[in-house]
Amino acid sequence: MNLDTVTDFKELEETVKTCSRCALRQGCRGVVFGEGNPSARIVFCGEGPGGDEDRLGRPFVGKAGQLLDKMLAACGFERFKHVYILNTIKCRPPGNRTPTEQERAACRPNLDAQLRLIRPAIMVLLGACALQEIVNSAGRITRDRGRWVQKNGVHIMPTYHPAALLRNPALKRDAWEDLKQVVARYRSLVDQDHYSPYC
Ligand code: SF4
Repeated sequence: MNLDTVTDFKELEETVKTCSRCALRQGCRGVVFGEGNPSARIVFCGEGPGGDEDRLGRPFVGKAGQLLDKMLAACGFERFKHVYILNTIKCRPPGNRTPTEQERAACRPNLDAQLRLIRPAIMVLLGACALQEIVNSAGRITRDRGRWVQKNGVHIMPTYHPAALLRNPALKRDAWEDLKQVVARYRSLVDQDHYSPYC
């Protein structure tokens, strides 16, 4: 099916779940499409499913996902209400290795179709893989995080992946500064009355 012609988000999900455009599909349990509110104005994009995500078929449900939920809560965002959560690739790479450029390219039509239907005002890119896929193939998260980029009318904020924050908690301070900018931008673009408990 031509993903460019799909207009219904549920139909897109059913279609993407049958994808076998790259070899990653043979080594995983299933396609992890994404979850949240497809009418949300803000999208969080990570790298790819890990072991827990592959097992449960849902994005960001392992330790990094639990931290992401805490980060969302600190911003006043609920997973199924304010945001949509997805990854650059939808199938778990073996051993959780970084997806190759070819794998990302193979999966890009799935991501593009999701973004075409969600039409977010804001995207938060979690980690280098999402940064390199969406903004700049030579992007470096330590250099580029915390600075807004605008692309096709979408306001994009790169920040650390929650897994990096688990590995190095000293990065949490910078990540929180990035998220405070995201909340401020959300208030200016989406909902001026958005409540967040900490900022
Ligand atoms: S990673 Fe993406 S392109 Fe590859 S099989 Fe899975 S859904 Fe298809």
